[in-house]
Amino acid sequence: MKRVYFHRDSKREAEGTYDWLVDEVKELGEDLKNEDKESLEDEFADVLAWLASIANVLNIDLQKAALTKYNNRCPKCGQARCICSF
Ligand SMILES: [Zn+2]
Repeated sequence: MKRVYFHRDSKREAEGTYDWLVDEVKELGEDLKNEDKESLEDEFADVLAWLASIANVLNIDLQKAALTKYNNRCPKCGQARCICSF
């Protein structure tokens, strides 16, 4: 994502890029109502792409951030298979 889009995302800055992420999350939410798996996969890809773009603009290593918090365990209960109550 960084190689392909950073030159554009950096001009839009984090807040402008966040607006795109919000739009894509809304589209994913709308798509949850139908059962077209291909369309859902497309929306998931868009949400992930915009999330990565914001991280890149803010110079945050998204993979490192995710693994630091969720490295094969629940960050709340510390278990590999979450036992937190809802
Ligand atoms: Zn848990």
